[in-house]
Amino acid sequence: MKAARLVAFREPLRIEDMPVPEPGPGDALVRVTACGVCRSDWHRWNDDLTWLGLKPQLPMTLGHEIGGVIERVGEGVAKLAPGRRVTVPFVQSCGACENCIAGRDNLCLKGQVAGFARDGGFAEYVLVRVADLNCVPLPDAISDEVAAALGCRFPTGYHAIAHRSGMHAGDWIAIFGAGGVGLSAIQTAAALGGRVIAVDIDEAKLERARVAGAVETIHAVEGVRIARRIKEIADGRGAHISVDAIATAPTTQAGIASLRPGGRHVQVGLTSQAEQGQIPIPADLVATNELEIVGSGPNPHGAYDEIFDLIARGKLDPASLISRRISLSDVTSVFHDFDTFATSGLDVVTTFT
Ligand SMILES: [Zn+2]
Ligand SMILES: [Zn+2]
Repeated sequence: MKAARLVAFREPLRIEDMPVPEPGPGDALVRVTACGVCRSDWHRWNDDLTWLGLKPQLPMTLGHEIGGVIERVGEGVAKLAPGRRVTVPFVQSCGACENCIAGRDNLCLKGQVAGFARDGGFAEYVLVRVADLNCVPLPDAISDEVAAALGCRFPTGYHAIAHRSGMHAGDWIAIFGAGGVGLSAIQTAAALGGRVIAVDIDEAKLERARVAGAVETIHAVEGVRIARRIKEIADGRGAHISVDAIATAPTTQAGIASLRPGGRHVQVGLTSQAEQGQIPIPADLVATNELEIVGSGPNPHGAYDEIFDLIARGKLDPASLISRRISLSDVTSVFHDFDTFATSGLDVVTTFT
């Protein structure tokens, strides 16, 4: 089978011929029909996140936004059969640790991420562990490309809004970054009745943000005082919620500074080499205005039924965020686009030969 392998950081992925892996006990072999190119793949390509204790293992097949079809299952797999169409959550959980048992399997203590701890989906086939848990069967109406989008960015944006922000209908929600996660958060917040203010450096992305449901947009060019502008829009008092889907000092700091007293900042983006995990925050503002800062991590398995339901009812439309269908050999050029925030929407690999 063909696979796009990371052999050296920031070098082009190498397309290699690999043996099709054999499913062990509990595993499923998935024939990949679509795999999204996520900013987290780019982080891996950059050797980022070492400050979180991630140890680089090379070579490795990247790709964690996996949509596909069950090809074969290993011993002990009870809920899946060949031919079943599935998506695969970002964290392949163990199902048995204290966080999994508490329903927070996105925080699994023994979780593994494709492309980080095991070979991923930029390949014709991928092995998924604890497959009964980590292969989520899809409704027929979900396309292969959407199955890929549901592997990471869309449910990550959904989780940030639906589970971590504490939003109520009518709230002003400032969302920083209209890339894959940001657009997903915008679409979710709008669907749940939020009034979204989208902030980005790219006017074309702001147009996508408006299509996704933002009622106000701010083009973050030199000289624009973003927090002040958000306060003006949001009743003169500030946003109820800010969501930082980028994680640079300007976005995190403006996100916190744009909140009204008692507001909540949701940190969902991950930093890059410039910040190496550290961003100073306006601490006195946090204290005196009793602001809350919460983290929002990868998508939990339990979110899928909610998302499928909202898609079926026409409230969410992940397909509208997909911009390009590409081949394995195009992935490296998408990484270069991520360098300059030049991607738009979700790029999905659909050609694997
Ligand atoms: Zn991702
Ligand atoms: Zn676990």
